Amino acid sequence: MSQEKSTIPGNHQQVPLKVLAIGSAYEDTILYVDKFPPEDGKQRAQRVEKRRGGNAGNTLTVLSQFPLTQGYFMASMASKDASAFLLHDFETHNIKTSTCIFRSNAELAPVAYIIYADNTSSRTIINYNSIDELTFEEFKRKFEAACVEEVDTLNNDLPFNWIHFEGRNVVEVAKMIDYIGTKVWRPRTKISVELEKPYRRGLETLMSRADVVFFSKVFAEGKGYNHAGDFLQIMSPHCKNTALLFCTWGSSGAMCYNNQTRKLSTEPALPIPSVVDTVGAGDTFTAGVIYGLTQGMTTEGCLKFACELAGRKCAQVGFDCVV
Ligand code: ADP
Repeated sequence: MSQEKSTIPGNHQQVPLKVLAIGSAYEDTILYVDKFPPEDGKQRAQRVEKRRGGNAGNTLTVLSQFPLTQGYFMASMASKDASAFLLHDFETHNIKTSTCIFRSNAELAPVAYIIYADNTSSRTIINYNSIDELTFEEFKRKFEAACVEEVDTLNNDLPFNWIHFEGRNVVEVAKMIDYIGTKVWRPRTKISVELEKPYRRGLETLMSRADVVFFSKVFAEGKGYNHAGDFLQIMSPHCKNTALLFCTWGSSGAMCYNNQTRKLSTEPALPIPSVVDTVGAGDTFTAGVIYGLTQGMTTEGCLKFACELAGRKCAQVGFDCVV
């Protein structure tokens, strides 16, 4: 059983990394219970934690731990006052939020209550988000400002080497990706999309626009598949013919389908002594792939690296010091 830290290739990072991640941020309250409560019952929690949540932000929290890496988070948020907890946490993790939109009339930040049942390791999530989604026009304004601000000589005039989207608000996100496609530097950056919720309509629109697509087990199961490999091969015609498709499968690890070589790769989960906290395991996996691909790892190397990183996350509480 090995939980030794994976080495950053060559033990030092070669490529400075600027990652823009677009999604939404939540105030998560995690209730750790022995077992899931019966309906209409009353139960004491073993432990309670409050954290910043939201997939894209979690991925940036992990990425920000790698050297020479700067994360930028973009979302439509509640008012600045109502977002104070979230903004403070982003700042603590050195993630820039100048790319966020604040809705002054929204007095409640998005919240999620997560019931973590110890006996089954299940995570049951109830969330509430009344903030209007980020529109294309808002994205364009913030994105242009960030491009002007962040272009530097280190990156050869490239504002971001990776732009990652949570697959939500499909119509607007498709416009955002198309807009990025008009930039001369587009061939030097990668765009990824995470598809987590199977019930969101029109997600194929996003698959066909991304260089890397991240699917969740929930998404695959929601589409009627119980094997990551079968699912990825069925999804592949909807994606670019150069795309890499990843699908995580909890304690069974993850798979990748390379649309160019038509090769399917499998990686088992990292064996860990005990599962402590799986909240954000998939987001950590995403961070591992983004990091690995930008540093020139092979597809298989990335898959292994990402599974190791996500496994280590599951063996600890939260994300701090996971890299
Ligand atoms: P999500 O957080 O999106 O539900 P998954 O549960 O599929 O994501 O987990 C993402 C990755 O985390 C998996 O591919 C695997 O590498 C790792 N992982 C998840 N559960 C475990 C576990 N019990 N032991 C080791 N690694 C795990």
